[in-house]
Amino acid sequence: MSTSLIDLDRAHLVHPVASYRTHEQLGVRVIASASGATVTDSTGHQLVDGFAGLWCVNAGYGHESIVEAAAKQLRTLPYATGYFGLGSEPAIELAAELAKRAPGDLNHVYFTLGGSDAVDSTIRFIRYYWNMRGKAAKDQFISLEQGYHGSSTIGAGLTALPAFHAGFSVPYAWQHKIPSHNVYRNPVGSDPAAVIAASVAQLRQKVAELGGPERVAAFYAEPIQGSGGVLVPPTGWMKAMRDVCRELDILFVADEVITGFGRTGPLFACSEDDVVPDFLTVAKGLTSGYVPMGAVFMSEHVYQTLADGAGSSAVGHGYTYSAHPVSAAVGLEVLRLYEGGLLENGRKAGARLMEGLNSLKNHPLVGDVRGRGMLAAIELVVDKEKKTPFPAAAQPSRRIFDRAWNNGLVIRAFADGVLGYAPPLCCTDSDIDAIIQRTKLTLDQTLEDPDVR
Ligand code: PMP
Repeated sequence: MSTSLIDLDRAHLVHPVASYRTHEQLGVRVIASASGATVTDSTGHQLVDGFAGLWCVNAGYGHESIVEAAAKQLRTLPYATGYFGLGSEPAIELAAELAKRAPGDLNHVYFTLGGSDAVDSTIRFIRYYWNMRGKAAKDQFISLEQGYHGSSTIGAGLTALPAFHAGFSVPYAWQHKIPSHNVYRNPVGSDPAAVIAASVAQLRQKVAELGGPERVAAFYAEPIQGSGGVLVPPTGWMKAMRDVCRELDILFVADEVITGFGRTGPLFACSEDDVVPDFLTVAKGLTSGYVPMGAVFMSEHVYQTLADGAGSSAVGHGYTYSAHPVSAAVGLEVLRLYEGGLLENGRKAGARLMEGLNSLKNHPLVGDVRGRGMLAAIELVVDKEKKTPFPAAAQPSRRIFDRAWNNGLVIRAFADGVLGYAPPLCCTDSDIDAIIQRTKLTLDQTLEDPDVR
């Protein structure tokens, strides 16, 4: 790799969610090109991308038809605003195609630039909604510990990961958490009914603590907690939480930024969970990471309340790049590819991935294997019986990431020894087999590493 590029990066590029000092020491690794599920770095090292970039390149790399769709739109109309009653063909078509496929009556789509501003937009819409309903006191928000809902100023407060709070003066006083369903480390044990009952009780308890339903605006949940370590709730958890929210007149927001667009199997994980939320947020797989875009789906009653409430006034929420036509054109083509075989391939590849990861269950370091579809994790422990996490001081995350990298595999190594998997849906059998085989090699090497154990 060119040294000057590393130096230029060190001198000028501020990286997202990084220790700036550690990054300066280590230097950047440059990804130079990619095709299918394989990425190549600037030294020519090839790796299977077991994390689809940042769980976003669901379609895989190198689809000419996506490039063509973007190029065609760039030539025809590179930009159109949605302000002043204007619009563009691809944005309207994409909204309509998505609404057709979204669960229940999530018929209205507001496009953003990514996931953080999609979540941020829901907060604004929810405040507006309750104000329009004459219930301004409903201004408290609840989310889950180990949840991730983005990195915007207020969204980061719904997020419950320490690095997103420390030093930033969030969360705000109106942002509250209840414990995660974390089946592997739940004080009530791993029995699904007990885990669901505990979460339901915790939500009710939190609502009561905050002064009752008349104070609570909304509850946020990911169908599977992603950045918290791929925590899969028991079947029926989403529905149980949704039912409590409906009973208490609290809006339910499903954050599908990771789980959307085939990651767990269908286009929306909520469909599998048999849940229709009031709001649903997506990003990542919406454009498969080729260009930035996110979206907020709102249900019929939410949209009608906002529309009636505002009357002839503007609902003052919008971005220059809301419903960007190039992103929308990419979204339409990506959707066509998903339905033209990628979802189907992802379901098969997901089954193979889970089978392969489960085959590692007896490895001395593997405490837990969990996942759904092409979204999975293994949790490494020092002592299986006691579920003792890896000592943080040994920096297991960085060591494991580096080792996997050298073995030709990109994974997400979370700080506590959880390895995350979210490969592109286009993975072939041999891609999946390489992921498993290289994971096993990485685990065996880690077992021999005296500094980590
Ligand atoms: N919500 C969830 C569930 C996410 O996983 C993420 C990103 N990982 C976001 C929101 C924020 O999305 P973005 O990074 O596109 O802003």
